[in-house]
Amino acid sequence: MSVIIKTPEEIEIIREGGKNLAIVLHKVKEKVAPGVSTKDLDLYAEKLIREMGDIPAFLNYRPEGASSPFPASLCVSVNDEVVHGIPKRNVILKEGDIVSIDLGVKHKGLFTDMAMTVPVGKVSEENLKLLQVTEQSLQVGIDAARAGNTAGDIGYAVESFIRAQKERKYGIVEVLAGHGVGRMIHEDPFIPNFGKRGTGAKLVPGMVIALEPMVNLGTKNVTIDDDDWTFRTADRKNSAHFEHTILITDGDPEILTQI
Ligand code: MG
Repeated sequence: MSVIIKTPEEIEIIREGGKNLAIVLHKVKEKVAPGVSTKDLDLYAEKLIREMGDIPAFLNYRPEGASSPFPASLCVSVNDEVVHGIPKRNVILKEGDIVSIDLGVKHKGLFTDMAMTVPVGKVSEENLKLLQVTEQSLQVGIDAARAGNTAGDIGYAVESFIRAQKERKYGIVEVLAGHGVGRMIHEDPFIPNFGKRGTGAKLVPGMVIALEPMVNLGTKNVTIDDDDWTFRTADRKNSAHFEHTILITDGDPEILTQI
């Protein structure tokens, strides 16, 4: 598989879909509160997506090698869950939790992908800082996503920013990465959140990519639950995740998953 350059017509559709996705995810964010179940968030997201005439991209998604399809529209990952948490009726958010919500949408046949980590009520200072650093690292990665740069330049920028934080040595998840997106939910290229300048795929105008740093309070290492989906930090410390779908242009990158 090689990198797909989107046509102007495709980009227009992806831009529309990205806006829809951002509207839905921000509404889901507003529903996050103590007492809400992770399944409530999933059902709300699915309802909103379908009302817009779009299709939840993760529902029944089965990547090559997966033992089962993903059973929900929204990935909901609480605290030490990194990504791909399965929403459940009996997982009730409580004050002080952090919850990552990750959503893919298919709009007129084309895909976009977005995620954010949200505090549940009032959270600790270290959790708040984790969210800030992770969100800022996404913006740093976006700033490096310019034509002529490479995937490695993005990874280098994200890693350098996180390593420069004085308050602790954060873990940067390495086994999961950003990716091309559009005709499929996951396309080439692979865009790690660490790396060396000048390595990896070259960025060219018309590429649509999802950048998604995952940052841990402790170790970078992760485990997978018995459900074969949920990634969790190996030391069970908290993890955050922010993601945007963006377009590489001749100038500044364009964030497609925004309102
Ligand atoms: Mg993604």
